[in-house]
Parts: sequence; structure tokens; C-alpha cells
Amino acid sequence: MLINVKFSDFTLLVKNFHFATDCICNIEIFIADMNFKTSYFITHPTGFQILLYTGILTWLWFAEAYILLPPVKSKWQHTISNLKFVFTALPVQLFMTIFLVMISSWVAIHHWGILIHLPFSNSFFVKYFIGFILLDFFDYVYHIIMHKVKPLWKFHLVHHTDQTMDVSTTIREHPGETFFRMCFLIIWVFLSGASFGLLLLRQTFQTIANITSHTQFRLSEKNAKRIGAIFVTPNLHHVHHHFKLPYTDCNYGDVLSIWDRLFGTYNELESSKTVFGIDTHMNKSICKSFTHTFKIPFKKTKDLNNK
Ligand SMILES: [Zn+2]
Ligand SMILES: [Zn+2]
Repeated sequence: MLINVKFSDFTLLVKNFHFATDCICNIEIFIADMNFKTSYFITHPTGFQILLYTGILTWLWFAEAYILLPPVKSKWQHTISNLKFVFTALPVQLFMTIFLVMISSWVAIHHWGILIHLPFSNSFFVKYFIGFILLDFFDYVYHIIMHKVKPLWKFHLVHHTDQTMDVSTTIREHPGETFFRMCFLIIWVFLSGASFGLLLLRQTFQTIANITSHTQFRLSEKNAKRIGAIFVTPNLHHVHHHFKLPYTDCNYGDVLSIWDRLFGTYNELESSKTVFGIDTHMNKSICKSFTHTFKIPFKKTKDLNNK
């Protein structure tokens, strides 16, 4: 029902914007038709993204359960607690996606944004490769802002309060953070001029990177060095989830780890020394409770003195 509303709104939007038909290789060229294709090409990528997300998440969850053999009951309880965040964050995500698509359409129609002003802006390389790198840099900046701006940190720290990190930690996101994340993404799309096709490509890589970086599985030292030279690995993201500074404020990368290396926020920590959580909120029973963690951003900031 919600999705139908979204599509009809989007069709109206496209009508208003007199959508251009000269875009290449992506959804925008079809949206201009304003017929059944609109629904098809919007629903198809949405369905694909949901399938990809749940598919990788479920597969890794069972792999963790059967290979690492954690206590079954506590893994289920932990997962259910994190799963509750999905039901609060998903409506926000879907609603904000309408505005994201609107902005992406607007920048395409008006040939707006950094990417369009780069040399060879019509080439696949600039549109998708450079665009991907630019969006990833913007996400790195977003993550730093979420850590450094206190009112925003109160929402993001909910993700950091998980003391038993596994693949389900990926979905532990306060709906308030979902709202801010989507606001920033809309700003990034406006600044970069990212097409809907680029957003879909990026989302696919982001899904894989975000889920795998939260899994309990770690790469061998050799592979962690090789893959971690460019991409965020579980080994690197686990450091970001260590309960104490300076580790909490390092390894901000989303898909690529190069930004942390470039801007001095890269750090390493052995698995045996890593303790998940956040030092201001180490009460286990509170962190396990969805209701308590949900309320954290609305409480007074006196206990956030590590930021
Ligand atoms: Zn963080
Ligand atoms: Zn994380």
C-alpha cells in the first residue's frame, strides 16, 4: 500500500518535471513514458535491493549460527531486538526515498551537480566510477558528522550500543538516524548530480559492504591487509565498534577504506582486544532492550562526556 502511494507520487512528480528522454543506460529514460514502465522500473530495482539485502543478511546469519555456534537462544533474542529497529526505520526510509528520487530526477533534468561539470561527464567512467567514489567520500563525511555533532551522535550511538556484534547489528539503526542519513544523502545527490542508476549501483555495493563488515567472521591477516587496502572489511569495522576512544572515532569508511588512510582516521586493533559497545552505555540489560535504546537520543546529554 505504502509502495503504491510512493509510485503514484513519483509519477506525478515526473509529469511536473517534464522529464528528459536523453538520459542513457538508466531508469530515467523510461520514467518519461509515464506508463506501466514507470512502475516496473521503480519496483524492479526496489525489489532487487530488498532481496539482495535480506538474502545476504539471512545467509550470513545462518552461517554465523552454524559455523561459530553461538548460544542459539541468545542469538535469536539479540536478532529480534535489532530487528525491531527495522520496523521503525523502514517507513522513514521508504518515505524519504520519494524525496531522494525527486532530487535525483531534478538534477538529471537540470544537468546539475559536480559530476556534470567534470571533463567527459557523459562517459560511463565519470558517471558511475567517479560518481561512486564521490558518493563514498560523502558517506565518509556523513559518518564523521554523526560522531562529532552531539545531537546527531545521540541517534548514531544507538548503533554502537550493541555489545554482541553480529550480522544483525547492521539493521540496528534508530529511525532518527535513518531520517538524518537520508537527508544527507539527498544533499549529496543534489551536490554531486548523481543519477538514479548511480544510486542503485552504489546501494548494491553498500549493501554488501555494510552487511559483511558487521559479521562475526573476520578475514585472515593476509586477506585483511589485501582487501582492507581499498575496501572496508569486518576487521576494520570491528575496530570502529570498540567501546573506547580513539577507536570509536576511526575507520569511518562506508565501502572504501581509502578515506580513513588519506585523512588519518585509520586504525587497527586485534580481535582479542576488541570490546564491542560504547563506554557511556555499557549497561547490558539497557543495551539489550529495544525500548531503552530507542529512548537514548531523547535523554539528557550529561552522560555523553566522551564526545
Ligand atoms: Zn559510527
Ligand atoms: Zn557499524
